[in-house]
Amino acid sequence: MTVAFQGIGIASACSVALGPAFVDVRGRGGVTHTPISVDQVQREIARFDLAVTSARQALKRVRAQIPRHTPVKIAEFIDAHLLMLEDAALVDEVRRIVADQLCSAEWALQLHGDTLVEIFDQMDDPYLRTRRDDIEHVVHQIQTFLHGENPQPINLADQDLVGYVVVARDLTPADAILLHHRGAVAFVTEYGGPMSHTAILARSLGVPAVMGIHDITRYLRSDELLVVDGESGTVLANADDAALLYYRQRARDIEARQRRLRELVDRPSQTRNGVAIRLQANLELPEDIDVAKANGASGVGLYRTEFLYMNRGDLPDEEEHLANYAAMIESLGGMPITIRTLDLGVDKRSSACAERGANVTNPALGLRAIRLCLKEPGLFRPQVRAILRASALGPIRLMLPLVTSVLELDRALAIIAELKQQLDQDGLDYDDAMPVGAMIEVPAAALTARAIARRMDFLSIGTNDLIQYTLAIDRLDDSVNYLFDPAHPAILRLVRLIIEAGNALDIPVGMCGEMAGDPRFTRLLIGLGLREFSMQPGAILDIKEILLEADTLELQRRTEYLFTQLDHADPLRLIEELNAT
Ligand code: PEP
Ligand code: MG
Repeated sequence: MTVAFQGIGIASACSVALGPAFVDVRGRGGVTHTPISVDQVQREIARFDLAVTSARQALKRVRAQIPRHTPVKIAEFIDAHLLMLEDAALVDEVRRIVADQLCSAEWALQLHGDTLVEIFDQMDDPYLRTRRDDIEHVVHQIQTFLHGENPQPINLADQDLVGYVVVARDLTPADAILLHHRGAVAFVTEYGGPMSHTAILARSLGVPAVMGIHDITRYLRSDELLVVDGESGTVLANADDAALLYYRQRARDIEARQRRLRELVDRPSQTRNGVAIRLQANLELPEDIDVAKANGASGVGLYRTEFLYMNRGDLPDEEEHLANYAAMIESLGGMPITIRTLDLGVDKRSSACAERGANVTNPALGLRAIRLCLKEPGLFRPQVRAILRASALGPIRLMLPLVTSVLELDRALAIIAELKQQLDQDGLDYDDAMPVGAMIEVPAAALTARAIARRMDFLSIGTNDLIQYTLAIDRLDDSVNYLFDPAHPAILRLVRLIIEAGNALDIPVGMCGEMAGDPRFTRLLIGLGLREFSMQPGAILDIKEILLEADTLELQRRTEYLFTQLDHADPLRLIEELNAT
């Protein structure tokens, strides 16, 4: 009988894998309270210190083994763990608990680790909350050495794992990278979430994973055949023949498709009738640039800078902004980048800005993005100065988020002009012609897109928010997620209006919301006249495959017809017809 387990799926281009299980049994069995006497305290502390030193040495060995072509900066993840192992807040406190509570080092470490994890669990910032995983990994590493277990980060030093699905209580980023290089084809863990470092790594390594299946290491045996579906988050054990047949075929199809898509990377991005379409990447972290390049992105169409503000109690200053943008420009080697100014609030929060806009009834309609920046110029100015200075180093565009009225634009433009004067006085270089654009993601902005386009050098459609505000659907609320519909006639009409406004005033119009990377809408958007798409890097080749076969004139004609039918038929069915060539 097939046994199915449900967890959180982590999928990249490759979403399915089949293989025998390797069940890692480390870390099973809880730590129990073991009292000690006063004269055992020094010995216990020395045992703890030795375990910390051994954990540190083991991590340094792993760090030295990281292959150079690893697509993300895994070394930084490992450095973060090394820093924790040196952090007095962790180490001194455990020593103190051993001495004060007269208990074993294992128990003291467990107590302190639980306290730290609880603190992280209570944090508002979802990104920061996932750093609890790092604490758990570090605590687990020290426990391993206290138990006198194998001094490898995972018990698999010489194990040949080619083709195996690794099933573990938890995997550190270091484990994940080593397992991948030993040939593991998928990961299944009891802990971890979609924003954990290990999940980020799995995605960028192209290894499907399913996380968060509690106690799975107890239910599976090594060598039994598993099916891992990173898209649905399902793990199948003892799958019947029909399921195996289905998944084997799916895995073969995915692989064949990936091979086909990879061949498109170097093809010029233009339609069948020779119209160039720009395919760019949305990035949140500088380390994602390699993945964007590997997928043939022609630049960065949206750099979300909020991550510069997260994970910290203070604010980044001008120099820190500049260093970050300069590094991006260097890695891009001449390709353009559109830097969006701060869009904090709602889903993206920062503890340094927590007091601003917190506790309001409806943060999505509150002080966020450009509103916050204009209200708090101290937040805005250092970033804009840094973007201007970075424009002397490479092709940059500055983009303002959540614009609602031209008054906001006029104020933002006045600040930019004033900062340029300041830079002149300070004798600092910048590109006076650096394009400044607006994101159109509020219905009010879409309906006044022409007035906005008159003031701006480019427009970019943010469909994620445009849909949220037009359809009155909180994009973070799962209970109304089913209503989040890019094909709603209101959305299609607004998108058309924005593209027409840009085209009428002869300024570039792009799209950087998720709709740009959704293959269902590619032909429709080309038919509407969109020529710049920016999306998560993994979607670029899917979109390219479609545009290479498209003919803009035919699509324009058919899209015009589609709009005449919009009130009479199901929009998705009309779009399907448009897609059926
Ligand atoms: C959007 O709203 O479509 C967008 C791209 O911005 P974000 O998802 O960061 O709000
Ligand atoms: Mg947005």
